Amino acid sequence: MLDNQPISDQERIIANLAAVRANIESAARRAGRHPEDITLVAVSKTKPIELVKMAYNAGVTHFGENRVQEALPKIAEFRPADLRWHMIGHLQSNKARRVADSFDYVQSVDALHLAQALSRYVEEENKQRLPILLEVNVSGEQSKEGIAATETIALARQIVALPHLDVQGLMTVAPQVKDVEEARPVFRALRKLLERLRDEVPTASWRHLSMGMTDDYTIAIEEGATIVRIGRAIFGTRVYKGDQQ
Ligand SMILES: *Cc1c(COP(=O)(O)O)cnc(C)c1O
Repeated sequence: MLDNQPISDQERIIANLAAVRANIESAARRAGRHPEDITLVAVSKTKPIELVKMAYNAGVTHFGENRVQEALPKIAEFRPADLRWHMIGHLQSNKARRVADSFDYVQSVDALHLAQALSRYVEEENKQRLPILLEVNVSGEQSKEGIAATETIALARQIVALPHLDVQGLMTVAPQVKDVEEARPVFRALRKLLERLRDEVPTASWRHLSMGMTDDYTIAIEEGATIVRIGRAIFGTRVYKGDQQ
C-alpha cells in the first residue's frame, strides 16, 4: 500500500521546509512584518552534502555550518552561483584565512583579533568586503561564545573601522530553556542593542538580527529577527559523534 511506503529524504525535506516557511510567514504576519524580510539559513552541520542539495533544490539558498573542517569539503563540492555559505560556529583566528577564502558570510565574530585577521585575509586575496555579524552572549551564560552585551558597543566601533569587513548586524544563540517564552527577553535585548548601535555607531548598516533556531524561531521573528538559523526542523535530529556539538 502506498501509504506504507517510507518517504524519501527529498520528500521529507520538502515537507519540513513547507512547514518552516508557513511558520515563518505566520510569525511575521503576527508581528506586522513581511515574511520576505526574513532570510532562512538552513543549518546543515553533521548532515551530508546530499541533503544540502535536496534543500537547495527545494529553494533554500543560504546554508550554515559551525565547524570549518566539516564545512570546507562541502563548500568545495557544492557552490552554485546563488548559494551562500554562512559560518555560524566559534572560530579561532588561525582558521580565519580558510574561512575568508570559502565562506560568504561570517555570523560568529566575537573578538577584535579575529575580525582583524578576517579583514587582512580579505585584503590579501583582493576580495569584496566580507559580510559579518557580531555574536553577542546576551544571557551572559559562562559556557556561551560571544561578546558580553556591555562590551559590544566599544568593540563594534573598532570592528566597524576595519576596511575589508561589512558589519551588518548582530547574532545570538538563546539559552536552552524549558519554556521557549523564556527566550523572548533575550531576543528583545538583542534588538535593543541593535537599535543602540544604529545610534551610536552609525557607520555600519546594522540591518540584520540573526536569532532563532528550531525551538524558538517564531518567537525570534516576533521580536525582530531578520535571519533565522534552522537545522533540525529541516534536516531532522542530529546524531553526534566524538567532540561535535
Ligand atoms: C546548530 C545551530 C543552529 C541550528 O540549531 P537547530 O536547533 O538544529 O535549529 C543555529 N545556530 C547555531 C549557532 C548552531 O550552532
